[in-house]
Amino acid sequence: MKKHNFYAGPSILSEYAIANTAAGVLNLDGIGLSVMEISHRSKEFMAILNQAKTLVKELLEVPKGYDVLFLGGGASMQFCMIPYNFLNTKAAYLDTGAWSSKAIKEAKFFGDVEVVASSKDKNYSYIPKGYSVPSDADYFHFTTNNTIYGTQLKEDPEVGIPLVSDMSSDIFSRKIDVSKYAAIYGGAQKNAGPAGVSFVIIKEDFLEKIVKPIPTMLDYRTHVKGESMFNTPPCLNIYASLQTFKWYHQKGGVLAMQKINEEKAQLLYDEIERNKLFRSPVLNEGDRSLMNVTFIMTDEYKELEAEFLSYSAYKDIVGIKGHRSVGGFRASIYNGMPLESVRHLVETMKRFESKI
Ligand SMILES: *Cc1c(COP(=O)(O)O)cnc(C)c1O
Repeated sequence: MKKHNFYAGPSILSEYAIANTAAGVLNLDGIGLSVMEISHRSKEFMAILNQAKTLVKELLEVPKGYDVLFLGGGASMQFCMIPYNFLNTKAAYLDTGAWSSKAIKEAKFFGDVEVVASSKDKNYSYIPKGYSVPSDADYFHFTTNNTIYGTQLKEDPEVGIPLVSDMSSDIFSRKIDVSKYAAIYGGAQKNAGPAGVSFVIIKEDFLEKIVKPIPTMLDYRTHVKGESMFNTPPCLNIYASLQTFKWYHQKGGVLAMQKINEEKAQLLYDEIERNKLFRSPVLNEGDRSLMNVTFIMTDEYKELEAEFLSYSAYKDIVGIKGHRSVGGFRASIYNGMPLESVRHLVETMKRFESKI
């Protein structure tokens, strides 16, 4: 029996994606070869790459004038590639957590960074609002979903300068308006596929802003021109991600995922509210993440933390230990997470409470 997998990343993938990837590793579409041992320039792999790009465009309704790239280096590589390419004088950044701060740190290597707002004062337990973004900045960077703290910015901000966003942990989980963004990027290992590939959705006319000499591999124009094939791409990871995209497509697309994600999150947040042992560390209800549900033990029951962890492990629940910077628990309920597993976690929380 499969365990209830709440890991934050790498994280749960659909049975469909895992089974189809396994089949392709053994014998790709009956061609008598593994997907791992064919040339990235073979017609079979070219078809895989094109289908993956097409499905990303379809699922996210990517308008004309944008390219979809699959690159190595993880989301963290994008923290430096974005400013290397686009920070000419100054960039604006919103600081909502550990990943935002890492992006800010890299940007500072390339020019002035204006942090327009930060929620660091309260351990990133809310999403800042009411800040103003300088109109002379080259772009405004923000993280939509703060994987560690369990907060999420659910609207596309309107700030009048190009938007660049790290959507590693909530891409494909809710409807977004891609036309509002100059670039969207993320690592695959939350809502797309196994770790080792990242996705970048980039507006072609944004590339015209590049004026510096940039090493070839770090220049977005290289990968747009080379159609993600300038060098050997992470072929197996792209194949596995394609299986996830196909599964999303079969399930009814991003809006269908959003509906079920809202249902899953509601179920869990309702139990956190109801259960006397737990509370949410997130200050505003509207900022609560639909993907990473953080919860801690109320002061009165603090000493039961380890006991709840072992009880949930006994109930076949894995990956709910909270990040050390928040403590408590974190249930990552990405797209691949079935409603039944969330129900099982809620039931486990109820049973544990009844034993106290
Ligand atoms: C996981 C994560 C990252 C880091 O991705 P890597 O691929 O490990 O570099 C960056 N940003 C967010 C929001 C994440 O959740």
